[in-house]
Amino acid sequence: MFKSLHMKLMLIMLLLITSLMAAVGAFLTTNVSSFYIENFHDQMNDMFGSDTETDGTALAKNARFMSDLLSAAAAPDGAAQMQNILDANTGSLGIDFRTRNYYILDGSTGAALAESDEGDTILASTPNLLSALNGKVGDRSDVTANYMDVAIPISGGENSYIIYIRDNRDTVSKLNGQLFTIIMQALVIGLLISVMFSYLLSKTLVGPIEKVTEGAERLAGGDFGNKLPVESPDEIGILTGTFNHMADVLQDSLNAVENERNKLDTLFLHMTDGVVAFDHDGSLIHCNPAATQLLQRSVPQETVYDELFGSVYPLTQILALQRPNYADAEMMVGDKTLELYFAPFSDRASGGVLVVLHDETEHHRSEERRKEFVANVSHELRTPLTNVRSYAETLRDSGGDIPQDTADSFLDIIINETDRMTHIVQDLLTLSRLDAGNTEMTCTRFEFGEAISSVVRANALEAKRRGHELKLEPTQPLPLIYGDRQRLEQVMMNILGNAIKYTPDGGHILVTAGTAGEHVWMEVSDDGIGIPEKDREHIFDRFYRVDKARSRESGGTGLGLSIAKEIVERHHGTIRLARHEGPGTTVRLTLPIRQEGQNA
Ligand code: ADP
Repeated sequence: MFKSLHMKLMLIMLLLITSLMAAVGAFLTTNVSSFYIENFHDQMNDMFGSDTETDGTALAKNARFMSDLLSAAAAPDGAAQMQNILDANTGSLGIDFRTRNYYILDGSTGAALAESDEGDTILASTPNLLSALNGKVGDRSDVTANYMDVAIPISGGENSYIIYIRDNRDTVSKLNGQLFTIIMQALVIGLLISVMFSYLLSKTLVGPIEKVTEGAERLAGGDFGNKLPVESPDEIGILTGTFNHMADVLQDSLNAVENERNKLDTLFLHMTDGVVAFDHDGSLIHCNPAATQLLQRSVPQETVYDELFGSVYPLTQILALQRPNYADAEMMVGDKTLELYFAPFSDRASGGVLVVLHDETEHHRSEERRKEFVANVSHELRTPLTNVRSYAETLRDSGGDIPQDTADSFLDIIINETDRMTHIVQDLLTLSRLDAGNTEMTCTRFEFGEAISSVVRANALEAKRRGHELKLEPTQPLPLIYGDRQRLEQVMMNILGNAIKYTPDGGHILVTAGTAGEHVWMEVSDDGIGIPEKDREHIFDRFYRVDKARSRESGGTGLGLSIAKEIVERHHGTIRLARHEGPGTTVRLTLPIRQEGQNA
């Protein structure tokens, strides 16, 4: 209830006013009572008291009054005479017959002989009365009593009396009652004023603080636009100014953080490596599109670490690593090999783990291809080398005993094998130059049809020797194309040479050509041994041969079509196996008529 500053202020004011009034009230009533009692005793002292002279004799203050009383006491009707004297002095004695009365009592019994009180007051034996009965003046005051009294013993002749003055303190009680009423009224007015005052105070003090609070709430909600007005140069004004400055600094910091985040988001979005972040509980924080692609699965927000990488590396072990240490592992996803790097991204408990996924498939494949290639090259060279060595050894060891024609045939084999090796090495050189991209192409404009005719002519003799029917059927006039004629003719030679080689004697070979849009094409079809379905996709691979023995027999290296493919691709063309009705093979070569950057 008293949580707000406004209420606290009001409560403080109320407590202040109430305690102030209580203190003032207590002070006033105590002082009024003391004053009244003091005044009563002073008055009595003035009338009945005595001063002590320098010589030690007591002298009545009001000598006449006291001598009158003493002489009246000596008279036979002393009580009546004394009453007359007291009646004559009621003003000086303050007797008002209501609150203060006098009583003339018998000095030895204490019985009332005369009195000013018209009521039937029964006198209680007070300490003062008792001391007067003992012959001493009783004028002690008692603040706690609800009355005031003095008792003076008077003796005249044989008579003894007591003059007893008693005040029932009604006047002071009434006065205190009135004072209480006044204080209560003042308290009510004071309370009203304090409520108003506290309202005004809260308006000037609490109002600006409330505005700063509202501003802070807006800030927490992300609204940095509204600045708080600085209305005064006091502490509240300074607080408001500082608050505005803090909001500016906060906005700048947030903008900087936002920029950093955007930068990172863009980086994560476009990088080819996958990035997945988890918090220390293993809950997913972030997963970029590359990671989803590499993991070949959707990664919804509720995915946890163990689901993706728990089997590869336990989360607790990575969290235990000290930065910049990291762990790495390999993971197979489908046919892909992923290299994974695990690193904690903060040493604090609120940190987590970052997993970077790198696709190593291509690297692995090229590594495998490289190994396979080296193995193939070694194998291809070892066979002719072994042959050369064994025939040369036989010749050397024969010591001239071998017949000349056998020796000649051995030497022929050695020369053939050497040629074969030279052929392989030349092909390998060509390929490696094409791979390295430093093979200069000598490009010119030439007639595509003319190039085909010259290749067909060059192979006509060999085809005839094998008893093939070789036909060239250009379907339409062919345009000039731009390219390295010599190398493109080498490609055509390879395709046509293969058709002649891999077709049993007496086969049919058809060469056709034409244009299709911006391209020219050439197809070589044969009705030879054909290429089995499973080998079709591999025949452009290096050293790939369907029938190794037949290829080697016919002088093939298994590199011809891969060289052809490289050359064609350098011309932005394609070379592939076309679908073919019946037995045999059809190879189709397509080349663009124009090349990019070609000189007219
Ligand atoms: P090679 O020097 O062995 O002829 P290529 O690269 O030219 O090497 O050819 C690769 C393989 O493709 C050959 O070994 C052969 O098995 C197959 N091939 C190519 N052309 C034909 C064809 N017209 N008919 C049947 N098989 C073919």
